[in-house]
Amino acid sequence: MREEDLEVAIKVVIVGNGAVGKSSMIQRYCKGTFTKDYKKTIGVDFLERQIELDGEEVRLMLWDTAGQEEFDAITKAYYRGAQACVLAFSTVDRDSFEAATSWKMKVEDECGDIPTVLVQNKVDLLDQSVVDPEEADLLSRALGCRLIRTSVKEDVNVNAVFRHLAACCLQEM
Ligand code: GDP
Repeated sequence: MREEDLEVAIKVVIVGNGAVGKSSMIQRYCKGTFTKDYKKTIGVDFLERQIELDGEEVRLMLWDTAGQEEFDAITKAYYRGAQACVLAFSTVDRDSFEAATSWKMKVEDECGDIPTVLVQNKVDLLDQSVVDPEEADLLSRALGCRLIRTSVKEDVNVNAVFRHLAACCLQEM
């Protein structure tokens, strides 16, 4: 049994190709804002948000890759101690969809099999989609994680991603 008054803090890593909306998602969830050209603040590793789940205070720490994914050089510090993962791809970027499996493998190598959500972002651009809905469903089944379709821009389903991850983590504690 967990002690009742211990604060629960969960480190969440957000992986996926560049430009799928990872930083925007963190910014949206933690600050409630969306900008087209959000530039990462140098020196800030993560943003956080506290939520209540089943009467429990949960602090989610959302780690930003700060563009390192472009160079395939995400440091071990980024993954260290991560307890949950957002695996993101973009509705309008085929490569990002194809890369999702290898991102999942990388996280597994570093963190083991942690609760993961496959996120299809930018669903506000569904009319320009390059990913068949059935393919996305198949991939999520193959990877053994839930698929959530989001628009960070229009604030659709972003909260659901993190509530789901927090719930999975609480269950495992
Ligand atoms: P990152 O490289 O994965 O961190 O991606 P960014 O957060 O920097 O986002 C890349 C671009 O996609 C930015 O111009 C964002 O404004 C834009 N973007 C992020 N989320 C969405 C979304 O849900 N819909 C649309 N249309 N654009 C988005």
